Amino acid sequence: MSTPATTTPTAAPVDGIYESTLRQFELAADALGMDEHWRTVLKTPFREMSVQIPLRKDDGTLEVFHGYRVQHNGSRGPMKGGIRYHPHVDLNEVRALAALMAWKTALVDLPFGGAKGGVNCDASTLSPSELQRLTRKYVSRIGLILGPYRDIPAPDMNTTPQIMAWVLDEYSGRNGYSPAVVTGKPVSMGGSLGREAATGRGVMIITFKTLESLGISREHPRVVIQGFGNVGSNTARLLTAHGSKVIGISDISGAYYNASGLNIADALEYSKNNRDLSGWTGGDKISNDDLLELECDVLIPAALGDVITERNAGNIRARVIVEAANAPVSFGADAILADKGIPVVPDILANSGGVIVSYFEWVQNLQQFRWDEQDVNAKLEKLITAGYEQMVALAQGRNVPFRMAAFMIGLKRVMEAEIMRGT
Ligand code: NAD
Repeated sequence: MSTPATTTPTAAPVDGIYESTLRQFELAADALGMDEHWRTVLKTPFREMSVQIPLRKDDGTLEVFHGYRVQHNGSRGPMKGGIRYHPHVDLNEVRALAALMAWKTALVDLPFGGAKGGVNCDASTLSPSELQRLTRKYVSRIGLILGPYRDIPAPDMNTTPQIMAWVLDEYSGRNGYSPAVVTGKPVSMGGSLGREAATGRGVMIITFKTLESLGISREHPRVVIQGFGNVGSNTARLLTAHGSKVIGISDISGAYYNASGLNIADALEYSKNNRDLSGWTGGDKISNDDLLELECDVLIPAALGDVITERNAGNIRARVIVEAANAPVSFGADAILADKGIPVVPDILANSGGVIVSYFEWVQNLQQFRWDEQDVNAKLEKLITAGYEQMVALAQGRNVPFRMAAFMIGLKRVMEAEIMRGT
């Protein structure tokens, strides 16, 4: 396959994930010839909830946080999407992430809609008991719109299987034992084998497929990964296990580089024992900005949104970008990268391994049955590969970038479901 089309229209400056997501939506809606009425139906959130979360801290003081749950569209099934704890969380960020979930679940053809939640807290400053109280208060306040057939949260940035266990316990206390109300739980609480590594596994599968189809050798590709949490670290581990040379990694503490390849097993061990990579001496310390501009075969942003924008897109020296994070490449950056001939594999496909295995977890919970890990991994590969092939076929057929093709498939499926429901 040749490098995909570079026809993204030149953009006026657009950064910020809410604006970027809307502009991407409009481009795909234009390509589908969608009329104004349908655009309004599809881009307007179905329901938004905004709650106050007062937290009594361990030292007796009171701090008030803000929590959100946005349900973007549920025409294809119950709403589905993670919960993010981050100081920058606001309603527009959650709206953008909820819409992306709706297109993502449709693209990989899961019987779910799309939602997202978040609380504007810095989880690293909260003790475990504060985190538990905050989570329970948040769930008690948004619980009315959750449910195994209504809306099913999952982990996202700074939320862990332990936090999902508290979500389950808080919800079940009011509604009876309901393991299918949340995914990404610990395996001992009804979580699925393979869920913790699922997003990274999906990123690995998509990275190798993309390299193959672009005619770039998949023998020892040089990879750079931003973010070393659930997604970034599992991606690094799995890519390394399959022969890749990870030359740069980073987390909140900074970035680490070695042109000959980093010892990922050592980095994993270090960050497990030390909370993050701060103080790790396994590579030359560079800045997170410089990491993104390293020369490499594959650049995988796996941390925050909006990290590749019009400010730095011109300096990117990767041959391909695989979006493991949600919305890491802005609308304006897309156009610059397209002009440079750097394809971007969009988040709604590249990181869909997480929601795919969350779907398997939900199914297992409803069936009260457990699948083995090989079974989970094989089913993940089948679904994400199908999504990839459909996206590539449409990108080639219509001569559009991958992101446009992925959005077109997602939007069209959601619109079809709305029509069948009689909207
Ligand atoms: P996480 O909290 O486990 O890890 C986040 C990582 O990003 C940490 O290593 C943190 O140190 C790092 N980070 C934070 N700020 C940074 C900065 N300024 N520069 C560099 N690194 C920074 O979160 P996660 O679950 O791995 O999620 C990462 C991304 O993947 C998010 O965009 C999330 O929405 C997306 N995602 C996650 C899942 C999932 O299953 N967890 C699924 C799909 C998409």
